[in-house]
Amino acid sequence: MQVEALPSAVRSAVQSHRCGGRRTGLVPTMGALHVGHVSLLDAARSECDFVIATIFVNPMQFGPHEDFERYPRTLEQDLQRCEAAGVDLVFTPETSRMYAPGAESIVSLTGLTRKLEGRHRPGHFDGVTTVVAKLFNITVPDRAYFGQKDYQQQLIIRRMASDLDWGVEIVTCPIVREDDGLALSSRNRYLSPAEREKSLSLSRALSLAQDLAQSGSESPDSIARRMQQLISGVEGIDPDYAVVVDCDTLDPLVDRPKRAVALIAVRIGKTRLIDNQILRFR
Ligand code: AMP
Repeated sequence: MQVEALPSAVRSAVQSHRCGGRRTGLVPTMGALHVGHVSLLDAARSECDFVIATIFVNPMQFGPHEDFERYPRTLEQDLQRCEAAGVDLVFTPETSRMYAPGAESIVSLTGLTRKLEGRHRPGHFDGVTTVVAKLFNITVPDRAYFGQKDYQQQLIIRRMASDLDWGVEIVTCPIVREDDGLALSSRNRYLSPAEREKSLSLSRALSLAQDLAQSGSESPDSIARRMQQLISGVEGIDPDYAVVVDCDTLDPLVDRPKRAVALIAVRIGKTRLIDNQILRFR
């Protein structure tokens, strides 16, 4: 497995492997790799000839009071996980190389990025789209793998790739959960045992939403209110939002649709958690 810090080295590795229709797969991550990340690497390995993982804690996507400084950095373990997953090349750039002095270009979307996460984390998605655009330019992937865990993010990346004619296929992989339902996240390690217990209310609220969509006649709004009640009933949880919205636009729904997405974001102590589920209505 090749490990590179310089875009120029990645470019030449990609060029030398790109022959005879060989497919390059890209898995962008911020490291602290867990089984959720590995599921993306596995998908890329099974579908592509040359697999690139990137590990970069991107300062541009963190707000001034967010957890950039304390975000877990576990490079040695991450490299072992990449090697075990059969990754061909890991790109671990320095921040100073990704954002050179004087850089002033930003890739910014104007609609999807303003909703939900965008409203609670101003500037976050500009950081995401700018860094992913740079990674696409450096690695020129045929396919790029993202998790449904960050539902709004994968929608935005799809929009960006299509709007800017990147010709990269965006693959969205299912959410990997702990046995008790908690979606795996690098941030779960911040949770105290008591907070870890409270965090189960996210997946419980999503299961309730799915049950209501399947069995009842409740509207998307009323299902969202039931999720909000469940979450607000847990002491120490501060909800940012719990909504049931259109899968593609993230806009509110008037009637009961065939499918929708339930999205939740909460703060538990100093930790912010997100989760979601596609709902199928009967
Ligand atoms: P991150 O390192 O948090 O930026 O995540 C890198 C990629 O892994 C993103 O596309 C995430 O959506 C995806 N991911 C994170 N957690 C999970 C999970 N539990 N299941 C599936 N994919 C995930």
